[in-house]
Amino acid sequence: MADCIFCKIVKGEIPSFKVYEDDTVFAFADINPISDGHTLIIPKKHAENIWEIPADDLAAIHRASKKVAAALKSSLNLDGVAVLQLNGRGVNQVVMHYHLHLIPHISGNPKFFMTDWELKPGNMDVIRKNAEKIASAIAA
Ligand code: 5GP
Ligand code: ZN
Repeated sequence: MADCIFCKIVKGEIPSFKVYEDDTVFAFADINPISDGHTLIIPKKHAENIWEIPADDLAAIHRASKKVAAALKSSLNLDGVAVLQLNGRGVNQVVMHYHLHLIPHISGNPKFFMTDWELKPGNMDVIRKNAEKIASAIAA
C-alpha cells in the first residue's frame, strides 16, 4: 500500500533495524521501545488487522515469533516477554499494517502497565452468555 509506513520499511524505502526476515515476514526494532529489545513482526504483504490478514501470513508471523522470542531470551536479561497485537482505533492501533509486538521485560524493571491489571471476578451469567454468543457466531 503506497502510503503505508510499514510497507515502506519492507521495501527498504524507510530505514529500520532488521532483526529477521523470510519470504513472508519482516521483523525489526520498534523506534519507540517500551523496553530494550522491543521488536515488531509484520507480514510483507499489506493487511490492516486480524480480520484482513490471510491465515497463512498469520501463521508465518507466529512461527517467526518463536525464533525472535528465543533470540530475545538468549540475548537479553529478561524474565518475560509480552506478545501484544492491536486491532482497530478503539484499542489504539496507530499503524494500520498488522504487527505483532514482542516486548521483553528486563529483570528488575518495574512491571508493564499493560500486563498489571487487577483481577476482578465477573458476573458468571454474563460471562456464559457472551461465550455462547461467540460460540454460535463461530458455528454459523
Ligand atoms: P500500535 O499500532 O500497535 O499502537 O503501535 C505501532 C508501533 O509502531 C509503535 O510502537 C511505534 O513505535 C512503531 N512505529 C511507528 N512508526 C515506526 C517507524 O517508522 N519505524 C519503526 N521501527 N517503528 C515505528
Ligand atoms: Zn502496509
